[in-house]
Amino acid sequence: MAIESIKNNESITQTYGKIIDPFLANAFYMPDENTITITLGYLFSNRGDFRTYSTEELYSSLGFVMGHELTHGFDSNGSYYDKNGKKLTTSILPEADDKIFKEKQVQVIKNYDKKEYCPCEFFENDGKITISEAMADIGGFSLVLEMAKNNNNFNYKSFFKYVAKHMASKKSVLVTAFTYTDVHPFGKVRSNTLLSNSDKFISTFDIKPDDAMWMAPENRVTIW
Ligand SMILES: [Zn+2]
Repeated sequence: MAIESIKNNESITQTYGKIIDPFLANAFYMPDENTITITLGYLFSNRGDFRTYSTEELYSSLGFVMGHELTHGFDSNGSYYDKNGKKLTTSILPEADDKIFKEKQVQVIKNYDKKEYCPCEFFENDGKITISEAMADIGGFSLVLEMAKNNNNFNYKSFFKYVAKHMASKKSVLVTAFTYTDVHPFGKVRSNTLLSNSDKFISTFDIKPDDAMWMAPENRVTIW
């Protein structure tokens, strides 16, 4: 839709009303339009020129955000919209699949719930509030790891470090600490839970059951 607006010389801001400023770093999925948007501002928000990125850095930033937004179309909320963006009363998934899908959501909520995201007991993540964002992270992460398989010599250690750096910045912790209604898992909870949930991360760093980043295999969730 944004591309069409540009072709027609319309302002993107005009098209989306006040929702979006194309020069602010932002990315989102709109279920009623079944569209993803990644702003021009986002493309220049990290180190600027994506052409200078290593494959691992590119996959951890632009690749991951694309996977994340696409997965929103199939998360706890997006699965109630059809391909034309029409809101449904039942899930797009067949009943048997939807049952498994909901069981997986319960486990995702448990994995993210009551985890401290600031060095203060008071700040704990609420797994129920952050469920759709956690699902988009897990789905987006799976997509990027699937793409990585096509690259010989892909440096997984480097990729996982970029992901953690990208997600658990001091800025994101401070901002989220003061915005309780934020639906994203907070700071280190977002990066650490996502990484611990990944079999590839556990094997790459040879994480053992006594290590802080360990998550038991039966608790790890693959959604898509
Ligand atoms: Zn999201």
